[in-house]
Amino acid sequence: MKLKKTRKNRTCSVCSAPIPKGALYGSKTISIPMKSTIWTIDNRPKEEIPDWAWETTYFKKVSAVCEACK
Ligand SMILES: [Zn+2]
Repeated sequence: MKLKKTRKNRTCSVCSAPIPKGALYGSKTISIPMKSTIWTIDNRPKEEIPDWAWETTYFKKVSAVCEACK
């Protein structure tokens, strides 16, 4: 992983250690699973949503990791 110097205080997303301004850090793309239905909020039926209508979508998020966790 390529390390960059941070220009602001960050927190490591793995060990939660603070990454102070000027320290080296890496960035990792993580996928966060989210449950959503096949309908949009407006079209969602009022009844209870059946299991088959749920699907898992992944949101990609770039998070900072410290030098030790890179
Ligand atoms: Zn860390």
